[in-house]
Amino acid sequence: MKFTYVTLFENLISPYFEDSILKRAIEKKLLSIEFYNPRDYTTNKHNKVDDYQAGGGAGLLLNAQPLFDTLKEIKKQNPNAHFVFPAPAGKTFVQADAKRLAMVEHIVFVNGRYEGIDERVIETYADEIFSIGDYVLTGGELPAMVIADAVSRFVPGVIEEKSVKNDSFNTGLLDFPHYTRPREINGFKVPEVLFSGNHNKVEIWRRKMALKKTMEKRPDLFLKKELDITDKKALLELFKELNKNA
Ligand code: SAH
Repeated sequence: MKFTYVTLFENLISPYFEDSILKRAIEKKLLSIEFYNPRDYTTNKHNKVDDYQAGGGAGLLLNAQPLFDTLKEIKKQNPNAHFVFPAPAGKTFVQADAKRLAMVEHIVFVNGRYEGIDERVIETYADEIFSIGDYVLTGGELPAMVIADAVSRFVPGVIEEKSVKNDSFNTGLLDFPHYTRPREINGFKVPEVLFSGNHNKVEIWRRKMALKKTMEKRPDLFLKKELDITDKKALLELFKELNKNA
């Protein structure tokens, strides 16, 4: 998977890929990143990349010319690249998008700044426009990193496949609670069942906790969930517990 960032601020992005999981993925050649700065493609004397809005109003916009020339060059070298524009006006980015985009070989993120980008660039190049939530940030760099990070978890080899499988949203549920050593701390114990050695019991307990958490915190997700046999067994356990406590 290759991520290309079109940005005026490479330094905001590159450190994120220089540590931890994404760093290892780059070392293993599962991921690669590159940067294009629209300022290098300006044709005006002072390498200006922004300008006042047509029609007036507060704030500057990223000019069409440097972006058109940058994106044309990227497209020429990578005809199959997928162009993603972060913008508050986009479709809200969700886990299913991360999974789907992980199948693409090359994603180009075109990052706005100031009041955004001249609309003609978006109309010409955007394969997809994503928002990361209903709030406004100062630039597209953070959203583009958020999207790349979520996509990377689905790139084979970046994260152990089993842990991706159980991640929140991938099963249609929130993830179950996790515990590690020690067995007891500050009076709080790791649930006994996790030491039972009985895989079946552990699986049903985990599903029960995932269902419970989803019902409590995200009933909207629970209503959409299609129940399999493990879900049903887990719900039966929950029901039995309710009866016991009644
Ligand atoms: N006036 C614009 C906001 C521009 S913010 C508007 O109201 O839509 C500057 C840039 O930050 C945008 O071009 C976009 O690239 C990025 N951005 C800001 N908030 C975002 C969000 N919630 N999701 C994705 N990108 C965002």
